[in-house]
Amino acid sequence: MSVKSNQVVSINFTVKDVEGNVLDSTGGDQPFLFLSGHSQILPKLEENIDQMLIGSKKEVTLSPDEAYGDYDDKAVQVVQRSEFPENTKLEEGMDFMAQTPEGNKIPFVIKDIKGDEVTIDFNHPLAGQTLKFEVELLDKREATQEELSHGHAHGGDGHHHHHHH
Ligand code: ZN
Repeated sequence: MSVKSNQVVSINFTVKDVEGNVLDSTGGDQPFLFLSGHSQILPKLEENIDQMLIGSKKEVTLSPDEAYGDYDDKAVQVVQRSEFPENTKLEEGMDFMAQTPEGNKIPFVIKDIKGDEVTIDFNHPLAGQTLKFEVELLDKREATQEELSHGHAHGGDGHHHHHHH
C-alpha cells in the first residue's frame, strides 16, 4: 500500500516506553500536524497512520530498529573540556550541537564530566527503546500550495505561525 504524499495529517498521540512511562504526548490540547511523504515522523509510524480511518485509534509498537535505532556504544566519546567554547558551563544532561566539516549539525548530550574529561553521547535519547504509540487520526486534507512550498504543515483553527525561510 503506497503512502499518499503531500497530505496534512493531524493526530493525537501518546508514546510510552515498554514500562508504560509516557515519553511524549499531544496531551489532547493541540493536535500534532505533519506533512505526509516528507519523512517528518518515523516511517513505520507513518505507514501505520496511512492505513487508519479518520476518527479511529490504533496502537502501534515500534522496535528500536523501526524507531530511533539500537544504542551504539561507539557513539559515546570522551573529549577534553577545552574542545568546548571557552566559558561554557558544562553540566551532565546538557544538549549540544556538533557541526561536521560538511556543515551538518549533530545533536549530542553530555553524559558525564570527570575533571577535564567530558563523556558525550551522540545516540538519540530514545535509541535502543521499543516505543508504544497510541494514535488517534483526527483529520487528513490536501496540503495548500503555501504548505508545500514551506515543506511543512500549518496549524488549523486559524492558528498561524509566522516565519520566513
Ligand atoms: Zn511555514
